[in-house]
Amino acid sequence: MSPEGARAGAPSVSFTMHGIGVSGGIAIGHAHLFAGMGAEVDHYQISGADVVREQRRYDRAVKEVRAELLELGESVRHSAASELAPFVKVHLMLLEDGAFAEAPREIIREQHCNAEWALRSQLDLLMAQFSDIEDPYLRAREDDVRQVAERILGALAGTQRRIATKPVLADAAILVARDLSPADVILFREHPFAGFITDLGGATSHTAIVARSMNIPAIVALHHARTLIHEDELIIVDGTQGVVIVNPDRSVLAEYRLKQNETRLERDKLKRLRSAAAATLDGTPVQLWANIELPSDLEPVKASGASGIGLFRSEFLFMNRRDLPDEDEQYHAYREVVEGMRGLPVTIRTMDIGADKNVDGQEHVTVNPALGLRAIRYCLAEPQIFNTQLRAILRASRHGKVLILIPMLTTWHELTLALAAVEQAKDQLRRQGIKFDEHVPVGGMIEVPAAAIALPMFIRRLDFLSIGTNDLIQYTLAIDRSDDKVAHLYDPLHPAVLNLIAGVIRTAQQHEKPVAVCGEMAGDVELTRMLLGFGLRHFSMHPAHLLGVKQRVLTTSLPDIAPIVARILKTDEPEKMQALIEKLNA
Ligand code: PEP
Ligand code: MG
Repeated sequence: MSPEGARAGAPSVSFTMHGIGVSGGIAIGHAHLFAGMGAEVDHYQISGADVVREQRRYDRAVKEVRAELLELGESVRHSAASELAPFVKVHLMLLEDGAFAEAPREIIREQHCNAEWALRSQLDLLMAQFSDIEDPYLRAREDDVRQVAERILGALAGTQRRIATKPVLADAAILVARDLSPADVILFREHPFAGFITDLGGATSHTAIVARSMNIPAIVALHHARTLIHEDELIIVDGTQGVVIVNPDRSVLAEYRLKQNETRLERDKLKRLRSAAAATLDGTPVQLWANIELPSDLEPVKASGASGIGLFRSEFLFMNRRDLPDEDEQYHAYREVVEGMRGLPVTIRTMDIGADKNVDGQEHVTVNPALGLRAIRYCLAEPQIFNTQLRAILRASRHGKVLILIPMLTTWHELTLALAAVEQAKDQLRRQGIKFDEHVPVGGMIEVPAAAIALPMFIRRLDFLSIGTNDLIQYTLAIDRSDDKVAHLYDPLHPAVLNLIAGVIRTAQQHEKPVAVCGEMAGDVELTRMLLGFGLRHFSMHPAHLLGVKQRVLTTSLPDIAPIVARILKTDEPEKMQALIEKLNA
């Protein structure tokens, strides 16, 4: 018997696939295939007389894609999805590259073939030779190259806006794609997808991060989903387990519907915790703060009941635009957040530009951007930009409770210069008679192993610390956090990582300095008790995770978990580590 809702008349073979679950929860719905270069491409010969016409057809497709990307870039500027605009821009730049603008035209001329085939041949060539490409910018952007080719192919087929033009998608559609570019993901906001699955991608890919912030189940790295799953087939996406079940039978479907309801009920129940004070069973208070990118993120922060903002990633104000925000514009943005939080603390991180977050014109200056002129290094190299930001933050400080957070501190000298820059900005404001909070605390992000190891060097001169586990893991394990090919090696439970985190918390306590964790680990409910056991009392995370973490805090007894956490810090075998984490959460 065919499962409920499966395609009428089609043989419905049931099978299961495993990938990396990047956003938890269960989605049940019908597959909507997102066609890309993985699909078959027609190949036919054209006459010599038709070469120019075919080249023009290709040029038109490129032009169409350019217009669409420009439109997308504009539509996300200053919107909640504005962090995606830089990637749209990368695609625009690739589109102008000779590899796309010229090479397929040449193939059409030489081989007298259709434009699709020329593009496909060029893409195959690029993919095969990717590791040999001299240009480090192109080499680092294999996925982007494929996504741009897919867009051009779509334009050639006259179906560029596959998702956007599909009349009305069923509420429960699940997007099945080989890969999704950030530009594709933008369209999610217009269509209520229940979830998505892709063949490529890693847990830290931008697509994954967006899925998590949208709270929809998602699985990546499935490898063959796009070829094995057919349009409209019924699928279950278990984002927590990383499992996809295609054409489930009735009993499996019923089981998952039950689980789905339980998850919904669980989420609704969590909402009741919004105003409950966060404290462990033995009465130890815990601060749960939120991370934001833009002032427009305040609404979910309020709904989560966060008692402050632990990380305002201010660099997002500087992205997706040709000019820099001046002091007044920044002041108004910071003030909006500070006033919106009504006296609760707001930690504004000075701009963390560099690595994968760039201001215009700065995109491909170095081979290893994560190790380059990033964060405080960039600010110290651009003192005027830094000064403008510090003045704006200080001005906003008189409207509430502001804390300044310096990212990526590594050396004594950097901290000296950063503190001097804060003092200089204060002096200027004083001389101009502009009011600000004279006692605004200045803290440092501990996200480079050197800073974690040589912590006493920084701690004496800072008012507070915030551990950026995303980068601390990247730099400790030498794993590029945005490279999906090494995503499986990105391990928050590596003993080196855990000992660094526990050590930073211990040293901060000895020096009586507040310490928070503001990386993704702070929002991972499976790690809440471990971090509490390390002595952490201050978590900052995406608002969507806050109530789940609060629930875990409320059900934790610090004396009970202490012996297990002590064993975790002594364990070096991954299986034993996993067993201890499970025991901790039992
Ligand atoms: C981190 O590195 O953990 C962090 C919170 O900063 P970002 O993710 O913005 O680099
Ligand atoms: Mg960081």
